[in-house]
Amino acid sequence: MDEIHAGSCLCGTVRFEVSGEFAAFFLCHCGRCRKDTGSSHAANLFSPNGRLNWISGSDRVRTYRLPETRHERSFCTECGSALPSAQADGFIVVPAGSLDGPVPVRPTAHICFASRADWDPLLEDIPTLDGLPGQ
Ligand SMILES: [Zn+2]
Ligand SMILES: [Zn+2]
Repeated sequence: MDEIHAGSCLCGTVRFEVSGEFAAFFLCHCGRCRKDTGSSHAANLFSPNGRLNWISGSDRVRTYRLPETRHERSFCTECGSALPSAQADGFIVVPAGSLDGPVPVRPTAHICFASRADWDPLLEDIPTLDGLPGQ
């Protein structure tokens, strides 16, 4: 029996469910993923047999594909949040941060690690705050 994972965007317009299992969970540090997330890496779950159902807001989901590449990104046109995509190869790709419940698997690997941001190395060495700074 497949697990069902619910998710949504930041503004709540788009809600979805993904059923199926996650075969891989990659943290991709490539320049495209850094650009499209604005962060150090993308964090995407890959399901080879998953099904993606939009619960609400499917008319606000837009998918951008970088021309002549397989790099694709779905997002909410209201708030810009990353959303799942159904890829041409049949995989459902789910941004881990878009899920509302616990992520059921640990990351598989950092990928494109040679392309990581110049500020990325040794992040575990910097101070950690439990809340916002200045509180
Ligand atoms: Zn939204
Ligand atoms: Zn990437």
